[in-house]
Amino acid sequence: MNAEQLWKTALGELELTVSKIHFTTWLKNTFVVEWKEDTVIVGVPNDFTRAWLENKYHKAIMQVLQSITDNKVTNIQYRVEIVKQSSVVIEQVQQSQPDDEASEKASIAQKNNMPVSPEPGSLNPRYIFANFVVGKGNELAYAAAVRVAKEPGTKYNPLFLYGGVGLGKTHLMLAVGNELLRNNPNLNVLYIAGEQFTNDYVSSLQNGTVNKFKNKYRTPDLFLVDDIQFIGGKEQTQEQFFHAFNALRDAHKQIVLTSDRPPKAIPALEERLISRFEWGMIADIASPDLETRMAILKSKSKEKGIELDEETLRFIATNVQSNVRELEGALNKLFVSVELRGVDPTIDLAREIISSITVSQRRGGVTVRDLIKVVAEYFDITLDELSGQSRRKELVVPRQITMFLMREELDSSYPTIGHELGGRDHTTAMHAYSKIKRDFDSDERMRQDIMSIKQRLYS
Ligand code: ADP
Ligand code: MG
Repeated sequence: MNAEQLWKTALGELELTVSKIHFTTWLKNTFVVEWKEDTVIVGVPNDFTRAWLENKYHKAIMQVLQSITDNKVTNIQYRVEIVKQSSVVIEQVQQSQPDDEASEKASIAQKNNMPVSPEPGSLNPRYIFANFVVGKGNELAYAAAVRVAKEPGTKYNPLFLYGGVGLGKTHLMLAVGNELLRNNPNLNVLYIAGEQFTNDYVSSLQNGTVNKFKNKYRTPDLFLVDDIQFIGGKEQTQEQFFHAFNALRDAHKQIVLTSDRPPKAIPALEERLISRFEWGMIADIASPDLETRMAILKSKSKEKGIELDEETLRFIATNVQSNVRELEGALNKLFVSVELRGVDPTIDLAREIISSITVSQRRGGVTVRDLIKVVAEYFDITLDELSGQSRRKELVVPRQITMFLMREELDSSYPTIGHELGGRDHTTAMHAYSKIKRDFDSDERMRQDIMSIKQRLYS
């Protein structure tokens, strides 16, 4: 094995254990400078990365290199080297040519000086107050959102909306944006998902455009952040968010945040952010009661121009209780059948559709324990192996599949998934989810495995 192969293998292993974002930020652009007997010299693009690897990843890197080389490697050095193409593993240290350096610097400077043009407000126009059905469970959140849209940046700042999946958090948040844009089309509205903030920050670090990043998040008049819970546990991101938040709030710019839980309950969220999120107005959204579910169905079917009788409405509302998204889903399925078959939307049709949904999903009955057991049995490994620490491939893949299915089938949160599977970090769960999702689309074998597991799970 030569030096490049060694490092490539090591990166492959590290990618499985380190969260995706950290891998991309700190490891992906590293390369091997030299491997001589017990010493490996790792090339890194800048001092910042060197410090991170030395402080945070040295142990993990050492472990991986030792396991690959049968403990031959005992000494790792990190060295800042300039590479032309960072993703390419180079054979030898290249002499950096003055020309390259100069042009590289120029391009970075250019990037930094580029006028910061805030992304034009592209809010989904479907989400407005007018089509939001108010009922028990969401009336407080609704009232607060309307108030914020009337008097942005004053009393309820930030507005923090939280609640379970599919209950209308995003709808209400975007309704605030759409309402304010309606009154002032030139308003600078920035809408992002919590994960995007992290990704943005990470790529600004890589591209040397942190100033641009900072600017972008200090300019909006209205800042909407969906699913802010994802910044939990990410120190650097939280630091950045803290400063952006303060700058905007000091300038009386309105901030609206959504989350699947209240600030205090977000895992590994810094105290100073918790207290700031609690400064304004916190409103929760609970599952709609039967009456509200019926009103929602009525409103949605009216939107589509299809009329349902009271009995059918009640039947659907009684049988789909989980959240509004599923309620909408059931209604859409009904309408598709109506169109395809050219029949009337009767209660019998609704009954047929809902029983087919519940058979194909049957989420209610399945627990995390069931899922873990089925996956372990399917791959013929023990429960301990499945949630243990070993990074053997034959265990890592089933583990990642379990994480994927917990998310897909049980709607588990990433922190829960990490916790259930051996106390792992939620970023590991996120990484596993996106990896398996990718494989599911591209790899027939993976697709078959997952289908079979699902079949066992629900039979
Ligand atoms: P969340 O962000 O809480 O997961 P969304 O805002 O995406 O949920 O809502 C899911 C779907 O349900 C969206 O299509 C939304 O328009 C609809 N919805 C949720 N609550 C209501 C409501 N009270 N009235 C009308 N539609 C709703
Ligand atoms: Mg949402």
